[in-house]
Amino acid sequence: MTKVSHTSSYYAASMNTAPSRPALEGRVETDVCVIGGGFTGISSALHLAERGYRVVVLESVQVGFGASGRNGGQIVNSYSRDMDMIESRYGVDTAKALGDMAFEGNRIIRQRIERYAIACDLKDGNLFAACNDKQLQNLREHKALWERYGHQQLELLEGKSYQREIGSERYTGALLDHSGGHLHPLNLVLGQAAAVESLGGTIYEHSVVESVNHGSRVRIKTAAGEVNAAYAVVAGNAYLGNTVPELTGRTMPCGTQIVATEPLDEDTARQLLPTDRCVEDLNYLLDYYRLSADRRLIYGGGVTYGGRDPASIEAVIRPKLAQTFPALANIKIDYAWSGNFLLTLNRLPQFGCINDNVYYAQGYSGHGVTATHLAGKLIAEVLAGRNERFDAFANIPHLPFPGGHKLQVPFSALGAWYYSLRDRLGM
Ligand SMILES: Cc1cc2nc3c(=O)[nH]c(=O)nc-3n(C[C@H](O)[C@H](O)[C@H](O)COP(=O)(O)OP(=O)(O)OC[C@H]3O[C@@H](n4cnc5c(N)ncnc54)[C@H](O)[C@@H]3O)c2cc1C
Repeated sequence: MTKVSHTSSYYAASMNTAPSRPALEGRVETDVCVIGGGFTGISSALHLAERGYRVVVLESVQVGFGASGRNGGQIVNSYSRDMDMIESRYGVDTAKALGDMAFEGNRIIRQRIERYAIACDLKDGNLFAACNDKQLQNLREHKALWERYGHQQLELLEGKSYQREIGSERYTGALLDHSGGHLHPLNLVLGQAAAVESLGGTIYEHSVVESVNHGSRVRIKTAAGEVNAAYAVVAGNAYLGNTVPELTGRTMPCGTQIVATEPLDEDTARQLLPTDRCVEDLNYLLDYYRLSADRRLIYGGGVTYGGRDPASIEAVIRPKLAQTFPALANIKIDYAWSGNFLLTLNRLPQFGCINDNVYYAQGYSGHGVTATHLAGKLIAEVLAGRNERFDAFANIPHLPFPGGHKLQVPFSALGAWYYSLRDRLGM
């Protein structure tokens, strides 16, 4: 096992021009200090700047360095848990509140792209593909459930009709969400960062937050500087480490791997994904893929617990890619990279507040492109005095992983092994 690397990302190689931002030096006063320059942090900063707050963002490395600049780029509505589980475990009122917000992150992304003219290759439509009959039945139920929550943009593709969307023999059917989509995630976060700055916000890069000191004002320290703020927003997600000790122990960083092939010719691309939508399957350890704007197949899958990489990313992903698209078994892979996401035990995001003025949002459990954008809006709302939507999430208990800090990785790996066995046996 090697340490997680972020080099060799297709996104870094195809990113829009972005400024190199200085590190924080000296003392700065502001209304809100945001820790982390990913979707959660930049979305929060942008919503806050739009409301007139003075905002400072501190990012360890560069904007989009974390999962937001490396992910599959799939705009998937809702959360990593189905509404029926939310209903049965947390009650109808919580389910109704979360259900009402389940499509809002998607809408926010589209508004941002339009308002700030962000070039990020947005395409419409995402598919959930069933690998066996049980999963297809789940999709039928999923569709009925979502229609109860007012989402009418789902189309069930039974039998082989999914092949009008996906040129693979692997599936038993699929569910098409016409309102989903895909995009270049790094360019989305970079575009929003530029929007923050256009509204007067300041972003410091290469500024690792070392401590957050609580009090009536929050003091956030880096090696060379300090921000003194009325509020802080912690948005470090799987890359936060132990910087805010109150937030560890109830989440687990996981790694996932992803590759980009060489560009495909037009015919091949059209055979694989004729309508240019993105796909994820329904397995517990799921595969996800789509075409980039320059017709590369971007294919992800695999999970490592504790956030470490396998020795060869290509060796993990190539067999999955070949199972879905046998014709690409020997395709040249130009880029292979990995990223960390943050898993929670109930797979719902964790929103909350520490000591009245340090807000956080984290733990999207693998589906965060839309929920992070919702998180930013809810944090801006709560600071402006409207807390009921933020509280609908914050009131959900943040459960610890069994086995505590030392055993959480082996326990979760064991759980994943069990579920992947069920996937393979079609249970
Ligand atoms: C490979 C991969 C594929 C994925 N695919 C999808 C997908 O297709 N669709 C989907 O919905 N979701 C997907 N996800 C999940 C999604 O990318 C994440 O949920 C989301 O990007 C999380 O955003 P974030 O801003 O909370 O965290 P991040 O993007 O990880 O940002 C956190 C930032 O905080 C910074 N930071 C951390 N600690 C400090 C500190 N002490 N001081 C300063 N800065 C700090 C980090 O450098 C980082 O830039 C994927 C994730 C991965 C890893």
